[in-house]
Amino acid sequence: MKILPAIAVSLFTAMVPAQAQTLSELIKKWTVNWNTPTEPFKIIDNVYYVGTAGLSSFLVTSPNGHVLIDTATAQATPLIKANIEKLGFKVSDIKYLLNTHAHLDHTGGFAEFKKETGAQMVASAADKPLLEGGYYPGAENENALKFPPVKVDRVIGQGDKITIGKVTLTAHMTPGHSPGCTTWTTVAREKRWNHTVVFFCSATIALNRLVGNPTYPNIVDDYRKTFTNARAIIADVFLAPHPEMFNMEEKRALIGKYGVNPFVKASEFHTFLRNAEKAFEEGLAKQRAATEAKQ
Ligand SMILES: [Zn+2]
Repeated sequence: MKILPAIAVSLFTAMVPAQAQTLSELIKKWTVNWNTPTEPFKIIDNVYYVGTAGLSSFLVTSPNGHVLIDTATAQATPLIKANIEKLGFKVSDIKYLLNTHAHLDHTGGFAEFKKETGAQMVASAADKPLLEGGYYPGAENENALKFPPVKVDRVIGQGDKITIGKVTLTAHMTPGHSPGCTTWTTVAREKRWNHTVVFFCSATIALNRLVGNPTYPNIVDDYRKTFTNARAIIADVFLAPHPEMFNMEEKRALIGKYGVNPFVKASEFHTFLRNAEKAFEEGLAKQRAATEAKQ
């Protein structure tokens, strides 16, 4: 789903007036390749990329059934299905649907996947109402930010696990970007080594109002806790909802060269967190300044 510029402008300017001039640039950057196909590929062991050029979707496979993490936009659903089949897996073997966060660019296909496969929809308590309502937090009536609602079958919290065969995915609560933002981890094996794979939720500000947010008053505290807590995750493979966050294309180009897996990069996740925290504090300062200027 594309954010309609006019509506997004009104939403965005209401929240961050100082940055309104750059909005058209932002929207262009955000949505340009959301529904553009890209080749699916193996990242490591049983973890595959099945998303679009601009939005991640990951398939974690097992002989007992598969787990699908995030589903991009509703329009991208046929692309994700085609990618799964292209890799030789069956869409009908998906048993669990996991979400990093309930925003339209990562949730659009859940309703259809659930209907088609009967898979269980898994989500955090705080994101459950957003998934079941199909709206952006704090913007329930913004049609441009809506997505097909999906019923949540299982609510998870910090440390909860989803297990299928020998595959386990662990939930880590990293709220802020969405109230129930959930980071998932699993262990992949390659060349007799175990690697922790992190599917980080996100910690960008996006369209979130950080100052005086009526539907999410402790949003700033949540972001800050997330930056602190996420550092406890020691990740060998860093993945995220938008491929550019983890430099997917650069790494993909290196697959099969130099005898090492380009997606195994131990320090990368923590470097990313440091930069994200800096960007958050800068964005917060801008929103505070803009709010004060209005008063
Ligand atoms: Zn988001």
